[in-house]
Amino acid sequence: MAGWTDTHVHLDDSAFDPDRDAVVARAVAAGVTAMICAGTSVEGSRRAVSLAERHPQVFAAVGVHPQQAALLTDAAVRELAVLARHPRVVAIGETGLDYARGRGDAIVQQRAFAAQARLARETGLPLVVHNREASEDVERILDNEEVCAVVMHCFNGSPDLAARWARAGWMISVAGPLTFPKADVLREAARRVPLDRLLVETDAPYLSPVPVRGRRCEPGFVVHTARMLAGLRHMSDEALASVLADNAARVFPRGLTQGRTAAL
Ligand SMILES: [Zn+2]
Repeated sequence: MAGWTDTHVHLDDSAFDPDRDAVVARAVAAGVTAMICAGTSVEGSRRAVSLAERHPQVFAAVGVHPQQAALLTDAAVRELAVLARHPRVVAIGETGLDYARGRGDAIVQQRAFAAQARLARETGLPLVVHNREASEDVERILDNEEVCAVVMHCFNGSPDLAARWARAGWMISVAGPLTFPKADVLREAARRVPLDRLLVETDAPYLSPVPVRGRRCEPGFVVHTARMLAGLRHMSDEALASVLADNAARVFPRGLTQGRTAAL
């Protein structure tokens, strides 16, 4: 069986300081053959890269989170550009827009998002996008910057939005909320997204799926979300794992292909 890929995890988070190596080992034991550690700051991106150097199953995404957008100076963009050349870096992000706390810094967020979208285009890497209550502006900026590949991380929108973004060629990555009792709308979206547009992730240490909800999330828990997705799509775990491995290898071309080869 192809291994699972957790396409978005914050392994560098201090929540994992006590037992990071054991967390990675448990994920591997659970069948996770690749984990993409998403940076949320330049410093965090550096930590993601060094984790990717230490663990063959870990890859890095380098970026600055929208809630930290003010930190993305021109010098920081240049630092991300240097990090992006590292062979274990497979994406730019986590970036995007987050208006959940209001639009007070919307212009700053948009500027940081656009700069990282340009970096994705220049490096040929996919862009990992965080979107909260900002779908219109996210679309506008992605269209303007002509990013080649987009991963909508922790998708939580409507079936129509998922279908539209899938038609645009963007990937829909679903996380633990897919398993939550009240997530019928999200489950309907996950049912309707074309199979070749789907990915799974944990966003650990956040958003643990049922049946481990409430605990610190870790990348091994991606299997719970993946199993629910397999059920929704009327597929065996094996068949879904194979499709998702192909999707991940296509979207994150650098290195993840190696991960798949290693798993075979
Ligand atoms: Zn995240």
